Amino acid sequence: MRSDIRVRIAPSPTGPLHIGTARTALFNYLFARHTGGTFVLRLEDTDVARSTTAFEKDILDGLHWLGITWDEGPGIEGREETGPYAPYRQMARLPQYAAAAARLLATDNAYPCFCTPEELDADRKAQEAQKLPPRYVGRCAALTPAERAAKEAEGRRGALRFRVRSGVVGWNDIIRDRIEIDTSNLGGDFVIVRADGTPLYHFTVVVDDMAMAISHVIRGEDHVSNTPKHILLFQALGYEVPEFGHLPLILNPDGTKMSKRKSQTAVADYIAQGFTREALVNYFAFLGWSPGTEEEVFTLEELGERFDLHKVQKGGARFDRERLEWLNGQWIRKLDDEELIARLRPFLEAAAVAGEIGRQPTDDELRTLLPIVRERIPTLASLPELVGFLWTDDIAVDPASIIPKRWDAATTHDGLAAAREVLAAHDAVTWEADELEPPLRELVEARGWKAGDLFMAIRVATTGKTATPPLFDTLVALGRDRTLARLDAAIASLSAPAGT
Ligand code: GLU
Repeated sequence: MRSDIRVRIAPSPTGPLHIGTARTALFNYLFARHTGGTFVLRLEDTDVARSTTAFEKDILDGLHWLGITWDEGPGIEGREETGPYAPYRQMARLPQYAAAAARLLATDNAYPCFCTPEELDADRKAQEAQKLPPRYVGRCAALTPAERAAKEAEGRRGALRFRVRSGVVGWNDIIRDRIEIDTSNLGGDFVIVRADGTPLYHFTVVVDDMAMAISHVIRGEDHVSNTPKHILLFQALGYEVPEFGHLPLILNPDGTKMSKRKSQTAVADYIAQGFTREALVNYFAFLGWSPGTEEEVFTLEELGERFDLHKVQKGGARFDRERLEWLNGQWIRKLDDEELIARLRPFLEAAAVAGEIGRQPTDDELRTLLPIVRERIPTLASLPELVGFLWTDDIAVDPASIIPKRWDAATTHDGLAAAREVLAAHDAVTWEADELEPPLRELVEARGWKAGDLFMAIRVATTGKTATPPLFDTLVALGRDRTLARLDAAIASLSAPAGT
């Protein structure tokens, strides 16, 4: 299926890849996949002071890593810039903007404005004092050719302002239905090219969307107030106005607006915390869309089959980290052993570097361990936290933490000593979960203890943790020698006289 639908994501490389950008990119990508259209990536890098190549790389690599790949767009390592409308970086498109600006000037849709920053500042202050919204007063809107020439003769270079004529701009938003905005609310004629020649966002985005034959502009709700300006520009340039769809904002769980300061918004941070690409795209798809069924786990390809832009919700989408972790757990269960081991490896390496584990487990060790840990790790990074005691020789266990709530130090000491004896009766061959458990249960029965108490004491003594995978599987993974040695150390620590 091929169609003329062309959509785009147009990130500005002024910050790292944000979850909002990833979500918007994903919805554009899915819409393109669903309709047989084309997904374009364009870098809006005209804010030279704030754009960096490091941010650009973070954005492009992040989207690529997520699998949100573009049919047309800039190159990344191992991939050339592709597409008939190259270049896909705005700073490489300056001649196009200059040509469009000349057309707007020639048709009197734009005019040079010589107002100084001081004049504009004074206007703004006067408006503030009158409690009026800021708006360009139109000082240069009606200069005669002679007046303009005189200013230029003084050596003044004008910025280019777009003429906002009175009227109403409306569009049928794919998601938000009919929207109409009176042009008197747009703040007056607005600058499209600075006096130094730099073209500004409202202008470049329209010139590019036209040049790249974009049919649908799908972007965040925060752009609703920009869209009337864009429609006026499309019309003034004689272009066909594309369709618009404004996606709901992504909110914090408490319904407040997400901000870089208060919330974790960089995709790289989620990657570093061990979220899989499958879970992230799966979750991002639910930030504003749902299949209308109870199904939750979808591959990127399945999302492309099911995604319907018309079913995107209007209301804000709350970011629910618990649901993301749940989905991540689902995806961790779906990965095959070798793939999961490969994905765990960088996190184990990082844990070793950070001194959280003493050594790297082998692939074989991990393979045997997967059945008992796979369902217990919400993220790839949480494995060292869960079972790092397996790969650390010196686990520091506070003797007080070994003593179960209902027990005292003496009982714990006796309990562990008795358990050690029972466990030591096993050799390496019978060191199996279903062999270790029954005799310990018999011991508990004979002494009138509660299994939970003894087992908790053994767990903390051998792992330093109160929560681990099932105890006997854990002891098997730990091995006979280390289990007995850790029990010995715990017993010794409990029998040391108080105060030493
Ligand atoms: N560079 C703009 C942004 O990142 C693009 C907005 C648009 O999609 O038109 O918000």
